Amino acid sequence: MTYDKLIPSGAHHDKAKHRKDKQPKDKYLKNKHAKGKQVNESVLSHAHNIDLNELVTASTLAMKGRGAVSNSSNRYDSESMVKIDDGWTAEVASTSVQTKLIPAPSKTIISSNSSPDISFSKSINPYRGCEHGCIYCYARPTHAFWDMSPGLDFETNIFVKANAAEMLEQTLNKPGYQCEPICIGANTDPYQPCERTERVTRGVLEVMQKHRHPFSIITKSDLMLRDIEIYEEMARDKLCSVAVSLTTLSNETKRKLEPRTASPAARLRLIEQLSLAGVPVTVLAAPMIPAVNDHEMEAILASAANAGAKYAEYIFLRLPLEIEMLFTEWLTEHYPGRAKHVMSIVRQSREGKSYQSGFHTRMKGRGVFADLLHQRFNIALRKLGLNEEYPKSELNTRAFQPANQQLQLF
Ligand code: SF4
Repeated sequence: MTYDKLIPSGAHHDKAKHRKDKQPKDKYLKNKHAKGKQVNESVLSHAHNIDLNELVTASTLAMKGRGAVSNSSNRYDSESMVKIDDGWTAEVASTSVQTKLIPAPSKTIISSNSSPDISFSKSINPYRGCEHGCIYCYARPTHAFWDMSPGLDFETNIFVKANAAEMLEQTLNKPGYQCEPICIGANTDPYQPCERTERVTRGVLEVMQKHRHPFSIITKSDLMLRDIEIYEEMARDKLCSVAVSLTTLSNETKRKLEPRTASPAARLRLIEQLSLAGVPVTVLAAPMIPAVNDHEMEAILASAANAGAKYAEYIFLRLPLEIEMLFTEWLTEHYPGRAKHVMSIVRQSREGKSYQSGFHTRMKGRGVFADLLHQRFNIALRKLGLNEEYPKSELNTRAFQPANQQLQLF
């Protein structure tokens, strides 16, 4: 059965010192928290060389309600762990792990990006880590900055920025603050389960509302309906828009792919309720995974349009850094007969690699399959009348009320 094997990585470290120019040029490595940390290339390169046949026989039992199959090493670990079949019976693995909430007061709350293929430049993430546990989540590698695994740690160790509203209030009150729309939850879901008790997102929304500050927000959770009166009121002044991510209409696929998210039916109800309240809704069919959910693209878009969504976007599966290994483990666990086929299409769509981080191609991929997906998406848009008003009407920045203006009202 399965066994963990240690690969000392000192040799890789020495090598890496002389090959800095060959380290992955990914945005995650530019993060300030990565400063001074040495990348253990064996963690990343193992996934490229993985033998899917070996993984099929050595696959582990997925934990109920969790996405990642393992707590794999992160790219800064000095040693890397891999699963091998040692011929012995496996020890009985733990079948559950509790979610831990970790207080993480922030010194700053608004992040900036200048990526040309992202529609916003400012964002707020009330949480780090996400209990929803989507296996493909591109935020997973950020947990390496905190010496944790992008695997199970990412979905079970959740950092809570309890002072987010207070920090936002201070930021908006700074003299010279320039108002531009802020995306809430660009990295991690602002309505993941702990928001029910922690209410960090709710606090941020209340500050936005008080200052008439425009925002967009992304979620997979119908917990958003708790705050619908804020969305409804802000939408009247073009101060908010919502994106609901919907990757499948199948409960079975959702359970494997994104275990702790709301059901597809609940997400469609969310789209419907928001649309009825006058909130502009985009459906994100993201990611599209070849031979796993891509066949559902048209049905997803049709269901969302029927529920009231006005806009749609999609993204081709992205596998940067540790996600490649985690995704491959997950594939062999849940789709053993299809794993090779899926990874073959992924590589065909990334010029032989599992991921390319270049702007403009990273979101959509290249090649026959990627082009066909793009065509199918455009045909569906036309048929369903989605994205007719595109680019979307801008969110309103003229209504913003800084603190000094609010005082003048009295
Ligand atoms: S809901 Fe979003 S942030 Fe949370 S795990 Fe899924 S993809 Fe990541």
